[in-house]
Amino acid sequence: SLWRLDTTDRADAYLASLSSPMSLRNFIGNNFTEHTEPSHWIDSFNPRTGELLTQIPRSALSDVDHAVDAAVRAFPTWSRTSRQERSEILLRIAEILKEKKEVFAVWESIDQGKTLSRARVEVDRAITNFQYFATYILHEEGAVRYVDGSVSTMTYEHRSPVGVFALISPWNMPLYLLTWKIAPCIAFGCTGVAKPSEVTSMTAFLLAEVFRKAKLPPGVMNIIFGDGPGAGSALVKSARIRGVSFTGGTATGIRIRQDTVADIGKHLSLELGGKNPTLIFDDVNLTEAVPLAAQAAFENSGQICLCGSRIYVHRVVYDAFLAAFVEYVRETYRCGEAIGPVVSREHYAKISSYIKQAKEEGAYFLTGEVPSEVPQKGFWITPTVLTNVRTDSRIMRDEIFGPVVTVSPFDTEEEAIELANDNPNGLASILMTKDLSRMRRVGERIDAGLVWVNCWLVRELGTAFGGMKASGIGREGGSQSRDIFTNLRTLHVR
Ligand code: NAD
Repeated sequence: SLWRLDTTDRADAYLASLSSPMSLRNFIGNNFTEHTEPSHWIDSFNPRTGELLTQIPRSALSDVDHAVDAAVRAFPTWSRTSRQERSEILLRIAEILKEKKEVFAVWESIDQGKTLSRARVEVDRAITNFQYFATYILHEEGAVRYVDGSVSTMTYEHRSPVGVFALISPWNMPLYLLTWKIAPCIAFGCTGVAKPSEVTSMTAFLLAEVFRKAKLPPGVMNIIFGDGPGAGSALVKSARIRGVSFTGGTATGIRIRQDTVADIGKHLSLELGGKNPTLIFDDVNLTEAVPLAAQAAFENSGQICLCGSRIYVHRVVYDAFLAAFVEYVRETYRCGEAIGPVVSREHYAKISSYIKQAKEEGAYFLTGEVPSEVPQKGFWITPTVLTNVRTDSRIMRDEIFGPVVTVSPFDTEEEAIELANDNPNGLASILMTKDLSRMRRVGERIDAGLVWVNCWLVRELGTAFGGMKASGIGREGGSQSRDIFTNLRTLHVR
């Protein structure tokens, strides 16, 4: 019944036609299997209504072991398949995802709370993840690199798949971020156990069926469901796991680093949180700057690690920007239209506590208000624009990960850089200026792994993606992903 979706259906009609709540099953060795403790479930709720939507297996250590067994068994054969073979399977997965795009988009929207249009973009990008790595491995240079050595030896560098990976993802862009790990893992000849967030597991469950339909050999990719401290932690700590690719919060990243520190050989990639600055200089055209700054702040209700949640504006255009920004946000980002609810009751409470603190500290609310203590029907939070927030306040320093943005003035370029860098995180940043030399001067000094100038969320999959400072370890994308999933050895052959 999950696949029965007419593209003309509306999400709520579709949902009403299903027998709710949906109970998910782990996917191990290409079989949907019961978890060991059949009475242990995690409830996941519909963010738009607050009603129970799905029940997620609370997998135990034995379930994790079972999935790792399957991945270990599949590795010797899978790691020796030809690139062509792997590429063909990745393309088959992409094709099936394309056919079922609307099913995935509707479920992603229902489960996470994002708008249907945003969900469609993310499913498209998930499809691209498989297509990109299917092509990359066929055209890759550097899998073998010959070096002009001495006369009597041939010297070359050779890459081989690392082994079994733990792939752990968050709830904000569930399918897109999980496939951003799964696609390169399969492409570079590794096998894996993926664990999506317990808050939004639905599209990962659907993806398992795609793997079956695409005839991915059993055990190459297994999907287990469960919480972080239970299934996630057991997976990361498993001695048979040779690498961990993690995207999620910084506190969890630190925990995972601690849990793996003794196992020197385990590859570790951590993509963590951000508190990203948007710098707006006095030479901008406000009719372009305002919508861009608003989109960067409020897309997916501010629940994208790359959102620009601290806006700094040159004092000369500060008042004009603020007036236009507030009007634009009020008109464009209405709850139920361009803004969906936040993902869960817990996240609603977290964001609310930050907004409450802002009120207590005397911040000016240009839009938004302190949300009611108990969400009424669904987890809705009005987009909130704050000014008069101190630089040392938690509102300015912590990642809130919701529809909350601060706006502050600056006087000089130097001050703008200082303010932007005055944060523990270093994931992304946005600059708005017409001055080409300033783009370089400022862009090359911002503490951020990603700098967007006069644009946002542009992604080129061959370039490095990741953060500085507390925002992570390592980079993903193109050859950076290859480095995560392969080992490099040098051979000298006489
Ligand atoms: P989270 O850290 O709470 O959870 C992420 C995943 O880790 C989940 O699957 C969870 O079950 C699992 N997990 C939790 N504890 C674990 C443990 N001890 N061992 C192993 N796994 C564990 O994050 P979240 O709340 O789901 O997601 C929001 C965060 O993700 C934000 O901080 C956001 O900035 C970040 N994020 C970063 C990027 C990026 O590319 N840098 C992208 C998206 C989201």
